[in-house]
Amino acid sequence: MGVTSGDRRNAMEENIEKVVSWILISKKIVVFTGAGLSTESGIPDFRSPGGLWDRYNPEDFYFQNFISSQASREKYWQMATEMYDPIKQAQPNPAHLAIAEMERMEKLDCVITQNIDGLHFKAGNSEDKVIQLHGTAMDVSCLSCRKRYDRGEIQERIRKGVKVPYCDDCGGPLKPATISFGQSMPERETEEAYHRSSLSDLFIVIGSSLVVQPAASMPLVAKRNGAKLVIINRDPTPYDNMADIVIHDQAGPIMASILEKVKQGLMN
Ligand SMILES: [Zn+2]
Repeated sequence: MGVTSGDRRNAMEENIEKVVSWILISKKIVVFTGAGLSTESGIPDFRSPGGLWDRYNPEDFYFQNFISSQASREKYWQMATEMYDPIKQAQPNPAHLAIAEMERMEKLDCVITQNIDGLHFKAGNSEDKVIQLHGTAMDVSCLSCRKRYDRGEIQERIRKGVKVPYCDDCGGPLKPATISFGQSMPERETEEAYHRSSLSDLFIVIGSSLVVQPAASMPLVAKRNGAKLVIINRDPTPYDNMADIVIHDQAGPIMASILEKVKQGLMN
């Protein structure tokens, strides 16, 4: 007799129950999110074959080229503008909403995210609970004086025909506040993320394939310091074998079902 779909459903239920019980007893829960969460909100995976990236030369997007070449800056803004619309229109999915709910229940130490779409904030998480490892597409910053601008305001300039926006204060080149290839990781955020990971007692990965470093090593740091590790991702990850629970499924429905049970557990 092989494994029936009924067996698989029961195993899934058991896993969900275990995650629920751990959320109920844990004091420092860190949630780590990646691209899988954004695609469930309809944001295309820009790096997948046939995606936007196929139509551009990746070299135009290296940070060094952005700094040194006007032509690269133009190409960069062209592509960034194409990417911005789906990001701006995207809405949080049930997994984002579940994570925001965890904050309201005081069951969330922080969210560490690889995503740049600001959806955790749209879902209701507060500024001080979200560590954006790869920056944010919702802001633009001046590479010379660091002045920040609202992304919408700068896109309005592009819409009116500006090819590359420059800083009002110092004339420096403006770039979306995301981390590009060849650009160093934000120091404060990276340090903070490692620190929180090391202190966590439950570390839940949601929608990340855990391949982009250094972010991908954070579950390892958590696990080594005694946290339970849960991975919820559609596809296998390199860290599945060290996780306490692995769920290969869509994040939205799984997180919604987990949160429903956590609520019931908190009322009992
Ligand atoms: Zn400036």
